[in-house]
Amino acid sequence: MTRATLAPTIRTTALAAAQQLSNQVLINGSLRGTAQSRSFDLHDPATGELICQVADAGVEDVDAAVAAALAAQSAWASRPARERGKIVAEGGRILAEHTDELAALLTLESGKALRTECRGEAGNVADVLQFFGGLASEIKGETVPSTNGILTYTEREPVGVVAAVLPWNVPLMLMAIKIAPALVTGNAVVVKTAEETPLAVLRIAELLNRVLPQGVLNVLSGDGTGCGAPLVAHPDVKKVTFTGSVETGKLIYGAAAQKLIPVTLELGGKSPMLVLEDADFDRAVDGALVAMRFTRQGQSCTAASRIFVHRSLHDEFVAKLTAKVGQLVIGDPFDDTTDIGTIISRVQLDKVNGYIERGKAVAGATAHECGTLPTDERLRAGFFGQPVVFTGITNSDPLAREEIFGPVTCVIPFDTVDEAIALANDSDFGLTASVWTRDFRTAMRTVKALEAGYVQVNQAQVASLGISMGGVKQSGLGRELTLESMLEHFTHRKSVVLNFE
Ligand code: NAD
Repeated sequence: MTRATLAPTIRTTALAAAQQLSNQVLINGSLRGTAQSRSFDLHDPATGELICQVADAGVEDVDAAVAAALAAQSAWASRPARERGKIVAEGGRILAEHTDELAALLTLESGKALRTECRGEAGNVADVLQFFGGLASEIKGETVPSTNGILTYTEREPVGVVAAVLPWNVPLMLMAIKIAPALVTGNAVVVKTAEETPLAVLRIAELLNRVLPQGVLNVLSGDGTGCGAPLVAHPDVKKVTFTGSVETGKLIYGAAAQKLIPVTLELGGKSPMLVLEDADFDRAVDGALVAMRFTRQGQSCTAASRIFVHRSLHDEFVAKLTAKVGQLVIGDPFDDTTDIGTIISRVQLDKVNGYIERGKAVAGATAHECGTLPTDERLRAGFFGQPVVFTGITNSDPLAREEIFGPVTCVIPFDTVDEAIALANDSDFGLTASVWTRDFRTAMRTVKALEAGYVQVNQAQVASLGISMGGVKQSGLGRELTLESMLEHFTHRKSVVLNFE
């Protein structure tokens, strides 16, 4: 049997698993319904079919989840750090055994392709838990020079109850990079899932609760105003870690300011890719395919949605890039021949199409539409979008300024390296950037000049464990994925002076 013919079986199994999670949140170690029993429908973005009901948690559920977390936190914090790390790592081992199941659930709810996206994302969750679990013994303080008879030192204490608010684009990975460092450092967590992707995150939490003490990890689903806002504002929540849009990030920052609690904000991007005159041309074209995250429908904060190409290479670059993007197969996310699945929702598809129409209306612009939308009757109601590469637009057009979060990029020519740097920096965002050149000195000069939290040369890969990830300007506050960020964001430093003079 080929992979493609297996697809309906995988989907049917995922649908059954989704229905088991229907109307459930996870509080104090167990799945349960919400206080008001309110729910909303979750539809398969590829077929429009109803998947299940999602629990629409409200204030009473927020109170219950935070109370459970608060009750569990101090006992969890008093365990030896390595013991906590081993438990979190063991959670990773359990998840690794469930990678296929989690990948299928994610495919069902997100519409991202199983082969190119969801298997990898589900597999990485275990890796993240094992990475942070292994760092548990590194939660160290410092000693401060003192005179005889006096010992001055610092130690790291957990912040308490952490609220982790998630978006829909890479929910499993983003959940993992928030909960793993928070738990290892002795905090308890309440996760708020995105409206569109509650299921695989909830299943991960259910699996992790096999090894975590009850109450240490809780998951709520619901909308931003009814569930997210009361969670962030809850007096017992002492830290918020958020990934999502700039607008919501600012609301959360404001709410946190009322309580004077710290926040980590991973927000939007409009990442530039700079292809210099001496770049390895074919490598840069292939790199653009990855950089733009086309197989994720461009739904990535790090998508290279502005590609600046030296004028001498521009036309050939556009021709090769559009030809390659056009070869990607858009179709059933469960089919193993599919490269590109669906956009997350009708709202998001309409937003993306709105940008495409605005771009087409710009004088002198050309929309290079790539690939073919699926014609399968079963997928007729799906939110499929064709990748579009724009030329003939400027860096000041909305298409080049605003985050589209869809498979739409623009290629803009430049003449000098300084001009390319100025164009790249002329943006409200500053998350990631990439430079493509064979010259080491030019690379180093450009890296230094670019306003971004993360710059890569001759590659534009997704974030990696151990490499700080986060933005400057409107792209956010704080960093994730490293030991330093774990200590900085999930612990307080306590200074101690012992005077036996
Ligand atoms: P969003 O801001 O609409 O929603 C994110 C989460 O916030 C959801 O769970 C939502 O319910 C919740 N929320 C909404 N209003 C809230 C409020 N007032 N208080 C508390 N919670 C609230 O974002 P989205 O559309 O789900 O995700 C897409 C965005 O995420 C894009 O802008 C993208 O750039 C960003 N993103 C950033 C990174 C990064 O690492 N920088 C990574 C992935 C996605």
